[in-house]
Amino acid sequence: MRHTTRREILSEDTGSPYYELRKYPEPTVCSGCNLVYHKGRWTNGLTAPAGANRELCPACRRVQDRNPGGVVYLDGSYFQAHRDEILNTAKNQEKLARAQRPLQRIMWIKPNDTGLEIATTNFHLARRIGEAIYQAHKGNLDIKYSEGDRFARVYWHRDDQPKPK
Ligand SMILES: [Zn+2]
Repeated sequence: MRHTTRREILSEDTGSPYYELRKYPEPTVCSGCNLVYHKGRWTNGLTAPAGANRELCPACRRVQDRNPGGVVYLDGSYFQAHRDEILNTAKNQEKLARAQRPLQRIMWIKPNDTGLEIATTNFHLARRIGEAIYQAHKGNLDIKYSEGDRFARVYWHRDDQPKPK
């Protein structure tokens, strides 16, 4: 009888094309976004030398495969009334996250049956966006993890309208 959990399998899954700690030859440049893999991490603001190894970084590979690491679902009448403001909060969180961790990106923003979904390249960014919206606008936040905690569905919902001033 095997006792290996899915979480353990995933934590050793360094062969996954999405695994952010995978090692690459140096220098490697991403053929999607031009990030350079340097000293063991994908780094902003570097220029790769001619002849550098070329590969897709984990974030660009997720974009290419349309395979997000997290999805944020936004809905409710309050959301519809404050849609632009809430979207700006989400985009601003991406900007802040990406400055430090360039693999954290929004992949798409699109309407669904009840509101809007925002797909991200990893679960940290999905959670960060959900928490920032919750802090600024209250409502209900619910985060569900799966795939050994490597995928997050983040649900934020608010229906009520604010009182007129
Ligand atoms: Zn890339």
